[in-house]
Amino acid sequence: MGKIILFYKYVTIQYPKQIFKWQTKICAELGLTGRIILANEGINGTLGGQDASIERYKKLMLEHSLFGNIDFKQSKGDSSCFPRMQIKIKDEIVKLGIDPKQLSPAQGGKHLSPEKVHELLENKPEDLLIFDARNAWESAIGSFKDAIKPDIQYFRHLPSYIDQHLETFKAKKVLMYCTGGVRCERATAYLNTKGVAKEIYQLEGGIHKYLEQYPDGFFRGKNYVFDARLSMHTNNDVLTTCLLCNNSCDTYDNCANASCNKHFVCCNSCKQKFKNTCGLGCQQLLESEKVAPRPPLRTVKVEQPHGQ
Ligand SMILES: [Zn+2]
Ligand SMILES: [Zn+2]
Repeated sequence: MGKIILFYKYVTIQYPKQIFKWQTKICAELGLTGRIILANEGINGTLGGQDASIERYKKLMLEHSLFGNIDFKQSKGDSSCFPRMQIKIKDEIVKLGIDPKQLSPAQGGKHLSPEKVHELLENKPEDLLIFDARNAWESAIGSFKDAIKPDIQYFRHLPSYIDQHLETFKAKKVLMYCTGGVRCERATAYLNTKGVAKEIYQLEGGIHKYLEQYPDGFFRGKNYVFDARLSMHTNNDVLTTCLLCNNSCDTYDNCANASCNKHFVCCNSCKQKFKNTCGLGCQQLLESEKVAPRPPLRTVKVEQPHGQ
Protein backbone atom coordinates (compact mmCIF):
# COMPACT_ATOMS: atom_id res chain seq x y z
CA MET A 1 0.00 0.00 0.00
CA GLY A 2 1.16 3.49 -0.71
CA LYS A 3 0.21 7.12 -0.68
CA ILE A 4 0.77 10.35 -2.51
CA ILE A 5 0.95 13.55 -0.51
CA LEU A 6 0.68 17.17 -1.60
CA PHE A 7 1.82 19.97 0.65
CA TYR A 8 3.03 23.52 0.71
CA LYS A 9 3.81 26.20 3.19
CA TYR A 10 4.68 29.84 2.74
CA VAL A 11 7.28 30.43 5.41
CA THR A 12 10.56 32.33 5.30
CA ILE A 13 13.38 29.89 4.65
CA GLN A 14 16.59 31.75 5.20
CA TYR A 15 18.87 28.95 4.07
CA PRO A 16 17.13 26.87 1.40
CA LYS A 17 20.38 24.97 0.72
CA GLN A 18 20.32 23.49 4.23
CA ILE A 19 16.73 22.37 3.77
CA PHE A 20 17.70 21.01 0.35
CA LYS A 21 20.38 18.78 1.92
CA TRP A 22 18.06 17.59 4.64
CA GLN A 23 15.21 16.82 2.23
CA THR A 24 17.57 15.02 -0.17
CA LYS A 25 18.76 12.81 2.68
CA ILE A 26 15.36 11.90 4.16
CA CYS A 27 13.67 11.36 0.80
CA ALA A 28 16.48 8.99 -0.26
CA GLU A 29 16.38 7.11 3.05
CA LEU A 30 12.62 6.67 2.81
CA GLY A 31 12.64 5.70 -0.87
CA LEU A 32 10.28 8.52 -1.84
CA THR A 33 9.83 9.90 -5.35
CA GLY A 34 8.26 13.16 -6.49
CA ARG A 35 9.12 16.84 -6.60
CA ILE A 36 9.94 19.46 -4.03
CA ILE A 37 10.51 23.12 -4.77
CA LEU A 38 12.25 25.27 -2.18
CA ALA A 39 12.56 29.03 -2.16
CA ASN A 40 13.10 31.76 0.38
CA GLU A 41 9.31 32.07 0.40
CA GLY A 42 8.61 28.44 1.38
CA ILE A 43 8.21 24.84 0.26
CA ASN A 44 5.93 23.11 -2.26
CA GLY A 45 5.99 19.38 -2.74
CA THR A 46 4.31 16.24 -3.96
CA LEU A 47 5.68 12.84 -2.96
CA GLY A 48 4.82 9.19 -3.43
CA GLY A 49 5.90 6.21 -1.35
CA GLN A 50 4.91 3.36 0.92
CA ASP A 51 2.48 4.16 3.76
CA ALA A 52 5.11 3.81 6.49
CA SER A 53 7.63 5.98 4.63
CA ILE A 54 5.10 8.73 3.99
CA GLU A 55 4.02 8.69 7.64
CA ARG A 56 7.66 8.96 8.72
CA TYR A 57 8.22 11.87 6.31
CA LYS A 58 5.17 13.70 7.66
CA LYS A 59 6.35 13.20 11.23
CA LEU A 60 9.85 14.57 10.43
CA MET A 61 8.34 17.59 8.71
CA LEU A 62 5.90 18.36 11.52
CA GLU A 63 8.71 18.19 14.05
CA HIS A 64 10.79 20.73 12.12
CA SER A 65 10.66 24.29 13.44
CA LEU A 66 9.77 25.74 10.02
CA PHE A 67 7.22 23.18 8.90
CA GLY A 68 5.04 22.53 11.96
CA ASN A 69 1.29 22.60 11.17
CA ILE A 70 1.93 22.09 7.46
CA ASP A 71 -1.21 20.67 5.86
CA PHE A 72 -0.83 17.38 3.96
CA LYS A 73 -3.33 16.30 1.32
CA GLN A 74 -3.34 12.56 0.75
CA SER A 75 -4.50 10.21 -1.94
CA LYS A 76 -3.84 6.69 -3.18
CA GLY A 77 -0.71 6.02 -5.18
CA ASP A 78 2.95 5.31 -4.53
CA SER A 79 6.49 5.98 -5.70
CA SER A 80 5.76 4.52 -9.16
CA CYS A 81 3.64 7.61 -9.92
CA PHE A 82 6.82 9.70 -10.31
CA PRO A 83 9.87 8.90 -12.40
CA ARG A 84 12.37 10.04 -9.73
CA MET A 85 12.99 12.34 -6.78
CA GLN A 86 13.63 15.91 -7.81
CA ILE A 87 14.40 18.74 -5.40
CA LYS A 88 15.05 22.24 -6.67
CA ILE A 89 15.76 25.68 -5.28
CA LYS A 90 13.97 28.45 -7.15
CA ASP A 91 12.82 32.04 -6.70
CA GLU A 92 9.16 31.10 -6.24
CA ILE A 93 7.60 27.83 -5.02
CA VAL A 94 5.14 28.00 -7.91
CA LYS A 95 6.07 30.26 -10.74
CA LEU A 96 3.91 33.33 -11.14
CA GLY A 97 6.83 35.34 -12.49
CA ILE A 98 6.60 38.07 -9.83
CA ASP A 99 9.29 38.68 -7.21
CA PRO A 100 8.02 37.35 -3.83
CA LYS A 101 9.25 40.61 -2.28
CA GLN A 102 6.72 42.48 -4.43
CA LEU A 103 3.83 40.09 -3.90
CA SER A 104 3.24 37.81 -0.93
CA PRO A 105 0.36 35.61 0.27
CA ALA A 106 -0.19 38.10 3.10
CA GLN A 107 -2.02 40.26 0.53
CA GLY A 108 -4.12 37.27 -0.60
CA GLY A 109 -7.84 36.55 -0.38
CA LYS A 110 -9.68 35.24 2.65
CA HIS A 111 -9.34 31.47 3.13
CA LEU A 112 -12.63 29.59 3.05
CA SER A 113 -12.87 25.98 4.21
CA PRO A 114 -14.53 23.42 1.89
CA GLU A 115 -17.65 23.63 4.10
CA LYS A 116 -17.82 27.41 3.76
CA VAL A 117 -17.31 27.19 0.00
CA HIS A 118 -20.03 24.56 -0.29
CA GLU A 119 -22.38 26.71 1.74
CA LEU A 120 -21.55 29.75 -0.38
CA LEU A 121 -22.27 27.83 -3.58
CA GLU A 122 -25.54 26.47 -2.21
CA ASN A 123 -26.72 30.02 -1.64
CA LYS A 124 -24.81 31.57 -4.47
CA PRO A 125 -24.93 35.38 -4.29
CA GLU A 126 -25.63 37.16 -7.58
CA ASP A 127 -22.32 38.97 -7.50
CA LEU A 128 -20.22 35.84 -6.95
CA LEU A 129 -17.63 35.04 -9.59
CA ILE A 130 -16.06 31.57 -9.46
CA PHE A 131 -12.58 31.62 -10.93
CA ASP A 132 -10.39 28.65 -11.85
CA ALA A 133 -6.74 29.63 -11.35
CA ARG A 134 -5.39 26.57 -13.18
CA ASN A 135 -4.31 26.06 -16.75
CA ALA A 136 -6.72 25.32 -19.57
CA TRP A 137 -5.78 21.65 -19.91
CA GLU A 138 -6.53 21.11 -16.22
CA SER A 139 -9.88 22.90 -16.11
CA ALA A 140 -10.94 21.18 -19.37
CA ILE A 141 -11.59 17.86 -17.60
CA GLY A 142 -13.08 19.14 -14.36
CA SER A 143 -14.13 22.39 -12.73
CA PHE A 144 -16.60 24.00 -10.38
CA LYS A 145 -19.99 24.66 -11.97
CA ASP A 146 -20.20 28.06 -13.70
CA ALA A 147 -16.51 28.81 -13.14
CA ILE A 148 -14.55 31.08 -15.42
CA LYS A 149 -11.73 29.02 -16.89
CA PRO A 150 -8.95 31.18 -18.34
CA ASP A 151 -7.41 29.92 -21.54
CA ILE A 152 -3.82 29.89 -20.26
CA GLN A 153 -1.09 27.30 -20.69
CA TYR A 154 1.07 28.31 -17.73
CA PHE A 155 0.37 29.78 -14.32
CA ARG A 156 2.81 32.61 -15.06
CA HIS A 157 0.36 33.81 -17.73
CA LEU A 158 -2.35 34.43 -15.13
CA PRO A 159 -1.32 38.00 -14.19
CA SER A 160 -1.64 39.21 -17.78
CA TYR A 161 -4.98 37.37 -18.11
CA ILE A 162 -6.20 39.23 -15.02
CA ASP A 163 -4.88 42.54 -16.39
CA GLN A 164 -6.75 42.00 -19.63
CA HIS A 165 -10.02 41.05 -17.91
CA LEU A 166 -10.27 43.56 -15.06
CA GLU A 167 -13.87 44.38 -16.02
CA THR A 168 -14.84 40.76 -15.32
CA PHE A 169 -13.80 41.11 -11.69
CA LYS A 170 -15.23 44.56 -11.13
CA ALA A 171 -17.45 44.82 -8.03
CA LYS A 172 -17.59 41.01 -7.75
CA LYS A 173 -17.06 38.65 -4.88
CA VAL A 174 -14.39 36.42 -6.34
CA LEU A 175 -13.97 32.80 -5.24
CA MET A 176 -10.70 31.47 -6.59
CA TYR A 177 -9.60 27.83 -6.50
CA CYS A 178 -6.81 25.56 -7.73
CA THR A 179 -5.71 21.95 -7.17
CA GLY A 180 -4.29 22.13 -3.64
CA GLY A 181 -4.39 25.80 -2.78
CA VAL A 182 -0.82 26.94 -3.41
CA ARG A 183 -1.51 28.83 -6.63
CA CYS A 184 -4.38 30.84 -5.14
CA GLU A 185 -2.20 32.23 -2.35
CA ARG A 186 -0.39 34.68 -4.61
CA ALA A 187 -2.91 34.76 -7.47
CA THR A 188 -5.55 36.20 -5.10
CA ALA A 189 -2.88 38.61 -3.82
CA TYR A 190 -2.24 39.73 -7.38
CA LEU A 191 -5.95 40.28 -8.02
CA ASN A 192 -6.17 42.14 -4.74
CA THR A 193 -3.49 44.65 -5.84
CA LYS A 194 -5.75 45.61 -8.77
CA GLY A 195 -8.40 46.88 -6.36
CA VAL A 196 -11.35 45.95 -8.59
CA ALA A 197 -13.01 43.02 -6.82
CA LYS A 198 -15.40 43.65 -3.93
CA GLU A 199 -14.18 40.66 -1.94
CA ILE A 200 -11.69 37.89 -2.67
CA TYR A 201 -11.84 34.35 -1.30
CA GLN A 202 -9.66 31.30 -1.84
CA LEU A 203 -10.63 27.66 -1.37
CA GLU A 204 -8.44 26.31 1.44
CA GLY A 205 -6.76 23.05 0.45
CA GLY A 206 -8.05 23.46 -3.09
CA ILE A 207 -10.14 21.01 -5.10
CA HIS A 208 -8.33 18.17 -3.33
CA LYS A 209 -9.79 19.01 0.10
CA TYR A 210 -13.19 19.97 -1.30
CA LEU A 211 -13.58 16.60 -3.01
CA GLU A 212 -12.70 14.70 0.14
CA GLN A 213 -15.84 16.12 1.69
CA TYR A 214 -18.05 16.62 -1.35
CA PRO A 215 -17.17 14.06 -4.03
CA ASP A 216 -20.52 14.69 -5.68
CA GLY A 217 -20.82 18.40 -4.96
CA PHE A 218 -20.27 21.51 -7.07
CA PHE A 219 -17.00 20.31 -8.57
CA ARG A 220 -17.79 18.24 -11.66
CA GLY A 221 -15.53 15.97 -13.70
CA LYS A 222 -12.01 14.94 -12.78
CA ASN A 223 -9.27 16.57 -10.78
CA TYR A 224 -6.12 16.85 -12.88
CA VAL A 225 -2.96 15.85 -10.99
CA PHE A 226 0.73 16.28 -11.82
CA ASP A 227 1.91 12.68 -11.69
CA ALA A 228 1.51 9.51 -13.72
CA ARG A 229 -2.12 9.15 -12.60
CA LEU A 230 -2.91 12.36 -14.58
CA SER A 231 -6.29 12.72 -12.95
CA MET A 232 -8.24 11.64 -9.91
CA HIS A 233 -11.65 10.20 -10.50
CA THR A 234 -14.39 11.95 -8.60
CA ASN A 235 -17.81 11.79 -10.22
CA ASN A 236 -19.02 10.44 -13.53
CA ASP A 237 -19.39 13.73 -15.39
CA VAL A 238 -17.27 13.93 -18.52
CA LEU A 239 -16.66 17.57 -19.46
CA THR A 240 -14.56 17.32 -22.58
CA THR A 241 -14.02 15.35 -25.79
CA CYS A 242 -11.37 13.29 -27.56
CA LEU A 243 -9.14 15.58 -29.63
CA LEU A 244 -9.18 13.13 -32.53
CA CYS A 245 -12.82 12.03 -32.84
CA ASN A 246 -14.73 14.52 -30.68
CA ASN A 247 -16.49 11.80 -28.71
CA SER A 248 -17.07 12.40 -25.02
CA CYS A 249 -13.86 11.56 -23.15
CA ASP A 250 -11.59 13.02 -20.46
CA THR A 251 -8.50 10.80 -20.24
CA TYR A 252 -5.15 12.33 -21.05
CA ASP A 253 -2.29 10.67 -22.84
CA ASN A 254 1.00 11.80 -24.33
CA CYS A 255 1.78 11.23 -28.00
CA ALA A 256 3.89 8.09 -28.53
CA ASN A 257 6.24 10.06 -30.78
CA ALA A 258 8.96 11.11 -28.30
CA SER A 259 9.79 14.30 -30.17
CA CYS A 260 6.10 15.34 -30.13
CA ASN A 261 5.03 14.13 -26.66
CA LYS A 262 1.85 16.19 -26.98
CA HIS A 263 -0.36 16.00 -23.89
CA PHE A 264 -3.93 15.57 -25.09
CA VAL A 265 -7.34 14.01 -24.40
CA CYS A 266 -7.70 10.76 -26.33
CA CYS A 267 -10.28 7.95 -26.29
CA ASN A 268 -9.42 4.25 -26.29
CA SER A 269 -10.53 3.59 -29.85
CA CYS A 270 -8.43 6.50 -31.17
CA LYS A 271 -5.47 5.23 -29.14
CA GLN A 272 -5.72 1.94 -31.01
CA LYS A 273 -6.47 3.51 -34.37
CA PHE A 274 -3.58 5.99 -34.26
CA LYS A 275 -1.16 3.71 -32.32
CA ASN A 276 -1.05 5.99 -29.25
CA THR A 277 -0.05 9.04 -31.25
CA CYS A 278 -1.77 12.41 -31.57
CA GLY A 279 -2.80 11.71 -35.16
CA LEU A 280 -1.86 10.37 -38.56
CA GLY A 281 1.22 12.63 -38.92
CA CYS A 282 2.95 11.31 -35.81
CA GLN A 283 1.71 7.77 -36.45
CA GLN A 284 3.39 7.70 -39.88
CA LEU A 285 6.61 9.23 -38.55
CA LEU A 286 6.72 6.56 -35.87
CA GLU A 287 5.89 3.67 -38.20
CA SER A 288 8.57 4.72 -40.69
CA GLU A 289 10.99 4.84 -37.73
CA LYS A 290 11.93 8.43 -38.48
CA VAL A 291 11.31 9.27 -34.83
CA ALA A 292 11.81 7.43 -31.54
CA PRO A 293 8.92 6.16 -29.40
CA ARG A 294 8.51 7.93 -26.10
CA PRO A 295 9.42 6.04 -22.92
CA PRO A 296 6.67 4.34 -20.90
CA LEU A 297 4.05 6.29 -18.94
CA ARG A 298 6.16 6.19 -15.79
CA THR A 299 8.36 8.88 -17.26
CA VAL A 300 5.69 10.91 -19.00
CA LYS A 301 6.59 14.54 -18.78
CA VAL A 302 3.73 16.80 -17.91
CA GLU A 303 4.15 20.26 -19.43
CA GLN A 304 4.09 22.25 -16.23
CA PRO A 305 6.22 20.26 -13.82
CA HIS A 306 4.70 21.54 -10.65
CA GLY A 307 1.45 23.09 -9.63
CA GLN A 308 -0.94 22.27 -6.88
ZN1 LIG B 1 -11.37 9.42 -30.09
ZN1 LIG C 1 2.24 13.75 -31.86
